[in-house]
Formats: sequence, structure tokens, C-alpha cells
Amino acid sequence: MIVVLLGPPGAGKGTQGEIIAERLGIPRIATGDVLRAAVRDGTEQGLAAKAYMDRGDLVPDSVILGIMKEVMSSPATEKGAVLDGVVRTVPQAEGLTGMLAELGKKVDKFLLFDVPEDELVNRLGGRVVCENCQTPYMGRDPGTACEKCGGRLVRRKDDEPEAIRNRLEVYRTQTAPVIDWYDDHEMKVFKIDADGPVDEVTARAIEALKE
Ligand SMILES: [Zn+2]
Repeated sequence: MIVVLLGPPGAGKGTQGEIIAERLGIPRIATGDVLRAAVRDGTEQGLAAKAYMDRGDLVPDSVILGIMKEVMSSPATEKGAVLDGVVRTVPQAEGLTGMLAELGKKVDKFLLFDVPEDELVNRLGGRVVCENCQTPYMGRDPGTACEKCGGRLVRRKDDEPEAIRNRLEVYRTQTAPVIDWYDDHEMKVFKIDADGPVDEVTARAIEALKE
């Protein structure tokens, strides 16, 4: 089963993605992770990405898509994958749909994690991440230690209040049209109420996957 997670920053996609992937027995694939892995392993697309990164440029969608294709045609994703943060713009939605079609695959479920904006601002403002393993924590002070790896917890620059508003604005202008695009192409996006305890949100997501 291939599942695409959609939703604004702070909606809990990363946390839910890991839980859902484990329940389904398939890997969670996040763009940043596969990009880092491809660069580290020196795959063809990873080397292409590295050339952009070394110049300080953004890695273009075409290269990211190439990396996703490498991942989606590997044995690790034979049973499917939970794709987190892979689709943020309409061109990326088009690209993913086309790339999977080339592999004879398609997305089985789109889950949109929905949280009111005020709650997102609260969550993101209270979030710190491990400098080392990137695990996010809520309500912890920067400078304390990560429970997973002992790394230092830091507040990311883009979790400062002004940056948060800006990220939500980017989401509204870039990602919201993705929902319409899927609608127009008769791919149903299931909206999950993600304002609540983690286990309740997981239960709603699992329910939607069964539909
Ligand atoms: Zn850590």
C-alpha cells in the first residue's frame, strides 16, 4: 500500500507517519531522509543532488523525483511506503503520479492531517528538535538532551514565531492547491482531524486507510 501524507507543518505528519508505517509493516519515506541517504550512498541521483547542494542551490524537483524513483523501485518498498513531505506542490503531485505510473504503481491513499492554524502556531512555537537525529519534542527546553540519542535539543530557526507564520503562508499558497489537483484527477484525499492526542489521531488515520 502506498500512502501519501499531506498537511501543514506542525500537523504531526512525521510522528503519525512513523506509527502508520510500523502498523502497515512498510517504510516511512521522507524527502529529506532519502535525499541525505542518496547523497551518502553516492547513487546516480544522489551525486546529481550533491552537485546542486555543493553550489548552495536547492535540489530541483526533477532530481528529488529521480531519488524517489530509485527508492520506489527498490526491494525495501516492494510492499509499499508511507510518503511524508514528498508532495508539497502541484508539480510534485504531477511528478509523483507520473513516476509511479512508470513503475506500474499508484498511490492507494491520501491522508490530509488537518489542524486549526492557532493550534499549529502553538505547537510549532513549543517544539524543539534533536540536533543529531532530528526527533521532535514538545514542551522541552532547548539545551536538554535527546532521549533517543543523547543529542542536544535546539529550537530550529523556522520554528520562531515570524518564520512559523511564513511557513503556514507558504503551505496555504503551495500545498492547498495540491488537494484541488488530486480532486480534479479523481484521487480522493481523506481529511483527518489531527487536533487531539497522538493515539486518537492514529486511530482516525487507520480508520481512513480501511475505507
Ligand atoms: Zn536525538
